[in-house]
Amino acid sequence: MAILITGGAGYIGSHACVELLNTGYELVVLDNFSNSKPEVLSRIKEITGKNFTFYEVDLLSKEAIDSIFSRHDINAVIHFAGYKAVGESVCEPLKYYHNNITGTLNLCDVMNKHGVHDLVFSSSATVYGIPHQIPITEDFPLGATNPYGRTKQMIEEILRDLYVSDKRWSVALLRYFNPIGAHESGRIGEDPNGIPNNLMPYISQVAAGKLEQLNVFGDDYETVDGTGVRDYIHVVDLAKGHLKALERVLLTTGVDAYNLGSGFGHSVLEMVDAFEQASGQEIPYVIKDRRPGDVGICFADTQKANQNLNWVAEKTLTDMCKDTWKWQSNNPAGYTKTQDHVTSIQLAP
Ligand code: NAD
Ligand code: UDP
Repeated sequence: MAILITGGAGYIGSHACVELLNTGYELVVLDNFSNSKPEVLSRIKEITGKNFTFYEVDLLSKEAIDSIFSRHDINAVIHFAGYKAVGESVCEPLKYYHNNITGTLNLCDVMNKHGVHDLVFSSSATVYGIPHQIPITEDFPLGATNPYGRTKQMIEEILRDLYVSDKRWSVALLRYFNPIGAHESGRIGEDPNGIPNNLMPYISQVAAGKLEQLNVFGDDYETVDGTGVRDYIHVVDLAKGHLKALERVLLTTGVDAYNLGSGFGHSVLEMVDAFEQASGQEIPYVIKDRRPGDVGICFADTQKANQNLNWVAEKTLTDMCKDTWKWQSNNPAGYTKTQDHVTSIQLAP
């Protein structure tokens, strides 16, 4: 019996692999490295001392997914694989709809064919769009405001329809807030391509001297200091949430959405201050106009996940900043090896 992890070479997937391996799960991992590097796989093995099977496979190839299910006794899937850049999704919507939705349809079709109906899906707080109230509960109306968010919202609806049609399906829709941080070892972390879009990787590259200064997008929101407020969650806490969700889908049926956040909001300037304290580095910044499409304040009500999944985010803002800095300073260029000694079986497309 094994758990299939799609997108397991990515930022959140790699941290989830560590937690799952440490708990004793047998893993089969797939990724097409469209936004990740093979080196992460040997780092996961190094941290855990455990082995797993990896396939360099694209979810757009149904035959390749089918071949994995034929080779392994898969009993559940954690589905991270997808594109995630909001701005890019606005410029290239078809690329996003095709990869995220067709990839998920292929996966679910093959799961169904092989009698596997337990699924943990990476959704996002972006499905809420502009929240009418704070904190956000799972029953808020959904209204994603960009193609990326709409892929998540559509996939949620598709997965709900699957359960309507076949009561064997058991699905957890995990709506992540703002994952940041890295594994405490400093061996795996977020490795964005080019100039980061998100706040935390941007701050850490300013701290490392790779970027000159932080642009703070707006200081006229109705928040504690006028800058945008978000719910930051340590990626290891988030990864542990997947273990809890997996345990639940294995025991139940139905489709349930869960907010995975800390339940607390922090402003951009609070994050700058926390990072300076944790790293001992100065973060020069300049106030700029608001970023188009941004909401002023967004944080989660996490009671449903706390109660139903028996999960709570435990790490502090200091942990998040310290671990981000450890990863950044130990790996200034991210993952750099072009070749790696991983057991990688490439399937024909
Ligand atoms: P990531 O880009 O680091 O990881 C995604 C992985 O999926 C990458 O390794 C990529 O190579 C792989 N992938 C993409 N398309 C694929 C395909 N067709 N076939 C096989 N592999 C494919 O992203 P992440 O930050 O780890 O996010 C994981 C999931 O969580 C994504 O679905 C993302 O949309 C969602 N999410 C992320 C955040 C965030 O802030 N990081 C927030 C909310 C939701
Ligand atoms: N932000 C910023 N400068 C940056 C990146 C982000 O001021 O270079 C702000 C952004 O306006 C928001 C917060 O930081 O208020 C978090 O942004 P991020 O893109 O990380 O997450 P999201 O907005 O998608 O929740």
